[in-house]
Amino acid sequence: MRILPRSIEKLIESFEKLPGIGPKTASRLSFYLLHVPQAQLDQFGESVKNLKNSTVYCSKCFNIGESDPCVICSSPQRDEGVVCVVEQPIDILSMEKIGKYKGVYHVLHGCINPLNNIGPDEIKIAEMLERVKGGKIKEIILATNSNIEGEATAMYIRRELKSHPDLIGTKVKITRLAHGLPVGADIEYADEVTLSKALEGRREY
Ligand SMILES: [Zn+2]
Repeated sequence: MRILPRSIEKLIESFEKLPGIGPKTASRLSFYLLHVPQAQLDQFGESVKNLKNSTVYCSKCFNIGESDPCVICSSPQRDEGVVCVVEQPIDILSMEKIGKYKGVYHVLHGCINPLNNIGPDEIKIAEMLERVKGGKIKEIILATNSNIEGEATAMYIRRELKSHPDLIGTKVKITRLAHGLPVGADIEYADEVTLSKALEGRREY
């Protein structure tokens, strides 16, 4: 005997597939939505439906946006010579909030994580090295998270930048976000003051 209507069951299942949402939260959210006006639900559904149709990845930095190149890469105000390497597009939002960074970005779309079978080839490292090969880049700021995976990713990139046969001779300064960021912290959750300090105090890596 099915107690829950199929539509609710399906919605719960969908929520459960999202990161950080367990069965309890999935049920709570689903039942909450039952009380939301239909117009609002339609809008919610529409946003989910259009999420991928109306967004594209920037072919330069792999940020997500409405145009390719993205607004940052196509802005004449940004310095193409400085590239801040982040794990996720959401990290760009955090960096932009501090309002001090005038360079561009490179989104890796993840970090090296052997436990989850994510190696360097699964994230956008080769694409980053390709950008450096262009010769325009003066500084790479490694802004991966300060947890084990983020550190391992930063170290891997540093090694590649210093030893890759195609990059020998290219003089790129490599820096890493510094003080203030607690060990194990995600860039995404860092407050603006902390992140701003970490950017200012970035050290040669
Ligand atoms: Zn871009």
